[in-house]
Amino acid sequence: MTQQVPLLINGELVQSASDNLIPVTNPATQEVIAQVPCATEAEVERAIDAAKEAFESWKEVSIGDRARLMLRYQHLLKEHHDELAEIISQETGKTFEDAKGDVWRGIEVVEHACNIASLSMGETVENVARKIDCYSITQPLGVCVGITPFNFPAMIPLWMFPMAIACGNTFVLKPSEQDPLTPMRLAELFKEAGAPDGLLQIVHGGKEVVDQLLTHKDTPAISFVGSVAVGEHIYRTGTDHMKRVQAFAGAKNHMVVMPDAQKNQVVNNIAGASVGAAGQRCMAISVAVFVGEAREWIPEVRDALAKVRPGAWNDPEAGYGPQINPQARQRILNFIQEGKDAGANCILDGSDCVVEGYPDGNWVGPTMFRDVTTDMSIYQEEIFGPVLIALEVDTLEEAIALINANPYGNGTSMFTASGAAARKFQHEIKVGQVGINVPVPVPLPMFSFTGWRKSFYGDQHAYGKQAVKFYTETKTVTARWFEDDIDTGVNTTINLK
Ligand code: NAD
Repeated sequence: MTQQVPLLINGELVQSASDNLIPVTNPATQEVIAQVPCATEAEVERAIDAAKEAFESWKEVSIGDRARLMLRYQHLLKEHHDELAEIISQETGKTFEDAKGDVWRGIEVVEHACNIASLSMGETVENVARKIDCYSITQPLGVCVGITPFNFPAMIPLWMFPMAIACGNTFVLKPSEQDPLTPMRLAELFKEAGAPDGLLQIVHGGKEVVDQLLTHKDTPAISFVGSVAVGEHIYRTGTDHMKRVQAFAGAKNHMVVMPDAQKNQVVNNIAGASVGAAGQRCMAISVAVFVGEAREWIPEVRDALAKVRPGAWNDPEAGYGPQINPQARQRILNFIQEGKDAGANCILDGSDCVVEGYPDGNWVGPTMFRDVTTDMSIYQEEIFGPVLIALEVDTLEEAIALINANPYGNGTSMFTASGAAARKFQHEIKVGQVGINVPVPVPLPMFSFTGWRKSFYGDQHAYGKQAVKFYTETKTVTARWFEDDIDTGVNTTINLK
């Protein structure tokens, strides 16, 4: 009998009473490694209640003590870095090195949360009127909720709960049902770091659990990361229930290749950024736009992609792992077929990928198309697999117009040797995260993760200073202290006197 993943409520690991169980599988073998329960309504209610109760004392804890909890947590995460990466590899199929990257990019956010005192500082102006001072303070919201996707089971939960809790909130996390073991281990380490009971709860499940969290009267803030369809539902439902919502959604990221760029850098960077993590990154490059003579490099990009070999988590030579589940693999294969049927030229076809020793894995080999038109489904939709589309244009202006016409705006990059071209691109492109000779420009946590347009719904983004704005309310105090009891008369105007 495989283990049933517990819930975490008020510091206790709880066996769910639900008989609605979802198998968690190793995507390279289909071995069932755990069963995850869909929490019952009563269990979700208990989780919210526990967070609500813990909030009453946690919000009074000094900011220094909150920061010290994060320092201890950061230390423990680093100590358990390899162990966490192994869990990620088991349940997502990621290569061990890539799984370590998933943990590391989360640790960096915890490090950022250690700076919570400086990040929370308000503003002060003396003498806004005679002998009257004005200052702002930030205060936590209450029970914050996080709903996270499968593709970064460490990094994305760590985008959310450390910042929310450092701000003085408590948290209910609903991780992806496809890889819940990593977030459970993150939570155990958080407790080991000294987090009081009730600071962080974990409930599992799908739409029903999410909808309960989204519509509950005691959950003022919702952070979501996942697909566009679900993101739109989360944003609409959450805001309809008068909540603050940030919803990070899907993507279609373009890399522009100028003919003055360094060819080897272009070839290697496109290959890594397009098929790395089996293309299951929201910042993966899925379209390369070759400008002018740069189109001559397309065969070399194809050859570089062809050399990247998928393989199991324990194969140190593997370039990337399997897709998360058989349905995701089949969806990608369908797109590849649709591309061929629509007349695109499939110059590298990974549909029949076989990995020795792992006949049941969800493998898709590196795949590349050229002669693609922008009305084809392979260009329109987020494929979320190791599939690269090569487009060709004559000018930078055309490349910019093409990208700006695409509904998504998560990430983009440009490879060039021209500062002027890069400056024009950075200024005119309608995408929230731009790389100049950097293929996957995921910002470090002192900045925020700032997708635009269909890739993000809301206004305050993840981590950076914006996370503190998202997870707190600003209070502005206007204060006067009287020295003498002078009769100044009644003031019936709005002016401060
Ligand atoms: P998903 O939308 O299927 O699931 C995300 C979360 O929503 C999961 O916890 C899931 O249980 C829950 N969920 C699923 N269906 C739901 C429904 N009908 N109602 C309510 N909740 C529901 O996404 P996924 O497949 O886990 O992750 C991949 C997607 O996430 C891709 O589209 C990728 O681009 C996106 N993503 C975006 C970012 C970003 O920062 N923009 C980062 C990572 C992943």
